Amino acid sequence: MRRHLTQELHNFIERGRDRQLRLAVTGLSRAGKTAFLTSLVHQLRHAGLEARLDLLRAAREGRLLGAQRVAQPDLGVPRFPYDAAMASLDGTPPHWPAPTRGISELRLTIKHRTRRARGLLGDTATLTLDLIDYPGEWLLDLPLLEHDFLSWSEAQQTTMGSERQRLAATWLSAAETLAPDDEADEGQLAEIASHYADALRASREAGFADLQPGRFLLPGDLEDAPVLQFFPLPGVREANRAELDALPETSVYKTLARRFDHYRRHVVKPFYRDHFRRFDRQIVLVDVLGALNAGPERFEDLSRALSTLMRSFDYGKRSLMSRLFSPRIDRLAIAATKADHVTPEQHPNVVALLESLLAEPLKDLRYADVPVKALSLAAVRATEPREVDNDGQRRPALRGTTLEGEDVLLFPGDVPSRLPEHDFWARQGFDFTAFRPPHRDTPELPHVRMDAALDWLIGDKLK
Ligand code: GDP
Repeated sequence: MRRHLTQELHNFIERGRDRQLRLAVTGLSRAGKTAFLTSLVHQLRHAGLEARLDLLRAAREGRLLGAQRVAQPDLGVPRFPYDAAMASLDGTPPHWPAPTRGISELRLTIKHRTRRARGLLGDTATLTLDLIDYPGEWLLDLPLLEHDFLSWSEAQQTTMGSERQRLAATWLSAAETLAPDDEADEGQLAEIASHYADALRASREAGFADLQPGRFLLPGDLEDAPVLQFFPLPGVREANRAELDALPETSVYKTLARRFDHYRRHVVKPFYRDHFRRFDRQIVLVDVLGALNAGPERFEDLSRALSTLMRSFDYGKRSLMSRLFSPRIDRLAIAATKADHVTPEQHPNVVALLESLLAEPLKDLRYADVPVKALSLAAVRATEPREVDNDGQRRPALRGTTLEGEDVLLFPGDVPSRLPEHDFWARQGFDFTAFRPPHRDTPELPHVRMDAALDWLIGDKLK
């Protein structure tokens, strides 16, 4: 009797401790965050019914009873537009949901049965899961915290290669007319800043990802705010620091430096302090296949952007993150999205490629003892794997409907398992087609390994 009571008490405390989890989803634009979160909510809401979630242990054991949306706690954060996203997927024809642009949130309560010894089902328990979606671009701003305006301006000049300079020509020619000691003219600075934002957007359109400041691309609620009216000043050098520091407060240099500082203190820091620091778990989505499709320059740029982005998860003792904040993320997943763009036997290569793309950050994470898992998934599986007969040989293929509505059967190519050499694109290349979301007759939303992602991210809280 006594033992029984102690066990009951233990369960109670355990459940109390595990009642809540904040799971954040991020990735650069078009990585697949909106599709992922929509599918995740759908899968959990249909758990125990139509959803196929065999790789999620609690579901496999028949202990997952379902999930409900409830009012979120943060009234200042927009709600993740789940209904609108589902309406797009359920449209005729089905189409992809409009991507979210800033931070948004949704709270689910998940009902499950606890596990008892020998596979017996225990009591009913509830896990409150807060899902937070935010742009990966915002994480590209972390390094700004170790810069001041001068060192940042200098660093930007070195990272801007020839193609990006070409895309930034209008901004560059206007900014080069400015001398650091000119008297600042508000209107002129606002105009040049808008050219800078245009240049960043053009670079992003061209497939570049390593772009700062992140909020210029996805301003969220800061659209048109003066705090975003700055840009790196071409030509300033560390060697001239003393002279520049002595300039009057009304000079171009000092005005831009003040805005840069304001951005760091009032935009970058608060995101980490008020949101990031409170995440328990995180999944970072990466469109590896998209970058592979876009060619060598974009692929290298993605690799640079990801190393910057991943610094926010480096909790080594001397890391910038640990020095400034005390993050509590205790488990991380890195996922290559849209795996349904390639045939299933290529999926292990997709994961291997993702791991080599993130080799350095993953090494740091493992060293800092942050549990991390790499996987490939499709939030919404838009294709069906098939086999075709090719000169008497069975070959894997995909069947799907293009965005234009054409039914196709194709083989998109082999995915390299390591970072490709420059000549990969000339030699072999890779060509994937974008597909329309699947037409469905049942509530089930087909996916690839969403259940594996869920098992890693929340499975231990569903025991
Ligand atoms: P976000 O900007 O990170 O929110 O990205 P989205 O979720 O809007 O995804 C960008 C685009 O990628 C979508 O419009 C789809 O075309 C495509 N996409 C996203 N997830 C999947 C998936 O699981 N399968 C397929 N085939 N395409 C996807």
